[in-house]
Amino acid sequence: MKPITELLKSGVVLGDGGYLIELERRGYVDSGSGREKVGTGRGSGQFTPEVAIENPDALRELHREFLNAGSQVLQALTFFGTREKLNRAGYGADTERINQVAVKLAKEVAGDRALVAGSVSRTQLTEREGMGSLGKSRDHLAEQIRLLKDAGVDFLILETFFHLAEMQVALECAAAAGLPAVATISFRPLISKSSDDRTPAECARVMADLGAIAVGANCEQDPRRMLPLLREMRAATSVPLAAQPAAFRTTEQCHSFTRLPAFPDELETIQISRREFVQFGQAARNEGLGFVGGCCGCNAAYIRALQQGLDDR
Ligand SMILES: [Zn+2]
Repeated sequence: MKPITELLKSGVVLGDGGYLIELERRGYVDSGSGREKVGTGRGSGQFTPEVAIENPDALRELHREFLNAGSQVLQALTFFGTREKLNRAGYGADTERINQVAVKLAKEVAGDRALVAGSVSRTQLTEREGMGSLGKSRDHLAEQIRLLKDAGVDFLILETFFHLAEMQVALECAAAAGLPAVATISFRPLISKSSDDRTPAECARVMADLGAIAVGANCEQDPRRMLPLLREMRAATSVPLAAQPAAFRTTEQCHSFTRLPAFPDELETIQISRREFVQFGQAARNEGLGFVGGCCGCNAAYIRALQQGLDDR
């Protein structure tokens, strides 16, 4: 496989879909809804990636499904894999093992048919403790990124950060580790501002200036709702755009599925159809996006649909 920076020059790169919600549906991941209110952005042991060490076959199988659907990039399931988040889920002592095993499984399945990206997300410290915690965030993000580098990822996908300020820290850690990084913010409750009040255009500029090889948005919105914010980013930067929308319907009042009452136990009632991912693929091609995939709610059928849209002539 060519490196990600080369792939981005040769056309739209097709990523994979969402792991934690799909594995939760299959019975391997805990949504946390039985213990606490989910959807605050500050959850304790919710949607963490210990499946890598507890049920590796389930994770391997989902990687295979995405690969067979055409994904050129497989994300190691290291989302919410900082020691900070894993501590709250009771898996802090397994931080090294979860990150190492997740990368090993993704690489095993990818072989020479796909690149492997390490997924890194927010520590949730900013949501819990405010901006004064960014120093602690830096230590946790740097630790996870070092583990991912040692495990042999090809590049990083920094995703589902709510605050641009914490994303900046993550991008600095990626640069210090010498790993290329795709950077995507999750906008909630509306697409107009990040949680620290920065517009999509400002986010795009700042992330590009910090060396991100592609910038954009992921999670929270269905593709149609996400496209306008991507266009704002397009106008603000010349680096490739990245988009991994969710496959759940949002509303005019709330552009964020994790803030809707259906999250997490009635997601079936707001699932969008694969057809909308065909249309997303067409839009991605017509508007020149660089990296596309899906986030929560997006299984291999949606990646196939996305591929179909990209191929439509
Ligand atoms: Zn998501």
